[in-house]
Amino acid sequence: MHTRSSFGCRLCGQPINSQALSLGGLPVCNRFTLDGHVEGRTNLDIVECASCQLIQLRDAPPPEALVPAVPWIRYREPEGHLDALVEQLVALRPHARRALGTGPFEQPLLTRLVGKGLDVAELDMDASGTPGRYPYLETWQARLNAAHLSAQAVQRGAFDIVSCRYLIEHTSEPLAALQALRPLLDAKGLLLIEVPDSSKFLAARDYCFLWEEHSCYFVDDTLRRLAEMSGYRVLAVLRYPGVLEDALVAVLEAADGPTSMAAQGPSGLFQPYRDGFAKTRARLREQFAALAGPDRNRIALFGIGHHAIMFANAFGIADTIALAVDDDPDKAGFFPPGFRVPVVGSERLLADEAITTCLFAVAPHIEGKVRDKLAPLAARGVTFHSIYAALDNAITKDPAS
Ligand SMILES: [Zn+2]
Repeated sequence: MHTRSSFGCRLCGQPINSQALSLGGLPVCNRFTLDGHVEGRTNLDIVECASCQLIQLRDAPPPEALVPAVPWIRYREPEGHLDALVEQLVALRPHARRALGTGPFEQPLLTRLVGKGLDVAELDMDASGTPGRYPYLETWQARLNAAHLSAQAVQRGAFDIVSCRYLIEHTSEPLAALQALRPLLDAKGLLLIEVPDSSKFLAARDYCFLWEEHSCYFVDDTLRRLAEMSGYRVLAVLRYPGVLEDALVAVLEAADGPTSMAAQGPSGLFQPYRDGFAKTRARLREQFAALAGPDRNRIALFGIGHHAIMFANAFGIADTIALAVDDDPDKAGFFPPGFRVPVVGSERLLADEAITTCLFAVAPHIEGKVRDKLAPLAARGVTFHSIYAALDNAITKDPAS
């Protein structure tokens, strides 16, 4: 069952006939289990619309298929740039008085706006529901619909600043979501849409950034097109660099109507990415079979989040992983989906004499700390690589090892 089928682009509605990057049927990344059994797989086909150039999942799984079975799944989104962003907003709207946050990642921004003297509010999330569970993103994005947001606008009035961070890339209907936010905006109000920029991982041919929870993979141009086609004027698209992924913030105001778009043709970014997958996969499978050794007891993977899980399953190397290592106590004892081993802590890795290769799936800014912790492994000759293709020590760059 899928919310949207392949026949139309989820941004411009044009038919998509171009060839997909097909990752095959993969387990949902948040489906950790206690017995290692994988129930249900989802076909991941990624396509680029030749008309508006939006890179997207051909079929987005329905929200209910993505709601985690375990209560501890949570997300982190970047915050380091928010001081700079708030300065920009205040410069654009010095008289702004009221701001609204519309998702689970708004608190750090709202706190800073309070510091600038604004009154802030958060969108009611009627479906938040289950105690002891983190409000789940798919539930949030399902609330970005016209009926719910119009009712909120009637109840609360309009706002000078409305922020929507890290939700739009999850929604299967981004155009409808942006249109639905409009009643919450004052006539001269600003709408902020923040998404991860996909251009770095596409250029690096890094496939672990693909994710069944991201329906849309925006870059600067397609974020602008989304805004204009949804009936907004783009005041600025701000870029805040990250090593693997930049943050893109579109600052918008309501326009008189949607801007129509001329067909763009393919972007040049997607085709080499799509075409590089099969060769990378074949090479990695061979390389991992050799590194794993006859007893498949030599490879550890450190940092078990959705990047690590996508890396292992999309490349078909999950069964070569002897140790799935993560020091998050919530994950201990759970099998990452598709793996044959449960998650263990780093003390198990330090004690395992058979391991000869350790792969990092951790953010670059904490890799140094992890290396320090694992110094005894380096001392006995264990090789370290990153799963991230853009980094110098990427396993994908080292076919000889
Ligand atoms: Zn399109």
